[in-house]
Amino acid sequence: AYVNGRYQDMRDASVNIEDRGYQFADGIYEVCEVRGGKLVDMPRHLARLQRSLGELRIAEPMPLSALSVVMHEVVRRNRVQFGIVYLQISRGVARRDHGFPAGSVKPSVVVTARTINPAKGAENAARGIKVITVPENRWPRVDIKSTALLPNVLAKQAAREAGAYEAWYVDSDGFVTEGSSSNAWIVTKEGRVVTRPDKSGILSGITRSVLKDALEALQIRFEERAFTPEEAAGAAEAFVTAASMIVMPVVAIDGHTIGSGKPGPVALRLREQFHRFAAFS
Ligand code: PMP
Repeated sequence: AYVNGRYQDMRDASVNIEDRGYQFADGIYEVCEVRGGKLVDMPRHLARLQRSLGELRIAEPMPLSALSVVMHEVVRRNRVQFGIVYLQISRGVARRDHGFPAGSVKPSVVVTARTINPAKGAENAARGIKVITVPENRWPRVDIKSTALLPNVLAKQAAREAGAYEAWYVDSDGFVTEGSSSNAWIVTKEGRVVTRPDKSGILSGITRSVLKDALEALQIRFEERAFTPEEAAGAAEAFVTAASMIVMPVVAIDGHTIGSGKPGPVALRLREQFHRFAAFS
């Protein structure tokens, strides 16, 4: 792990108990896919990271290019070929007080990387995952990739306890916003790929944005609009996207089978094609 300027064994790595990340979840994070030892779509992840920091008025702890070097180095030191790299930046260490610390507190930086067996993802994708729906109960600033994830934690746990893999939030108008750690998509019976517009109650997913490029290049019809759980249940296909899952087919929602009950051809094709449109570094 990289912690505030030092590379350390994970077992010895720790942060101060007065870190505002620990006390207030006053921080942001990014998760990037590692594939063949390379980092996927780093420029877009770093741009989103910069935006999240700006929205929370947390200082950039180092230039983005230096953060990129650290992330690559943590991947290299852990010999990760397939997996993820995690980066977290908090406002820093200060005596506990809700308001920002006076003076210039240095933000804390933690980077870790871990291997994920690609066979596991392939297995899930071959079977398809189930989702449940839960009422949207998060703050309105879900566009910020903040470490304040308690509603997401509870939603994911509710999914697990229901025998599902992901939970989709449904807003007060009855429309799906996104998953607890993924963006939500459907494919209509007419073959249109649909996902909710960003800047509207979702995190602007990097996988989502790369997939939009892929849809255009592959000339697959695409509509950016909200959909309901009922529409999803009656759709031809559904899937979720996230850096840790790429394109993951969804085969059931709240116990209703979607399409054939098997991963759909569009989702599987997009999963297979995705990395043609991704940037490796
Ligand atoms: N929405 C939420 C709430 C998430 O936590 C994530 C995963 N970080 C996503 C969407 C997908 O974003 P990305 O494709 O950048 O991983």
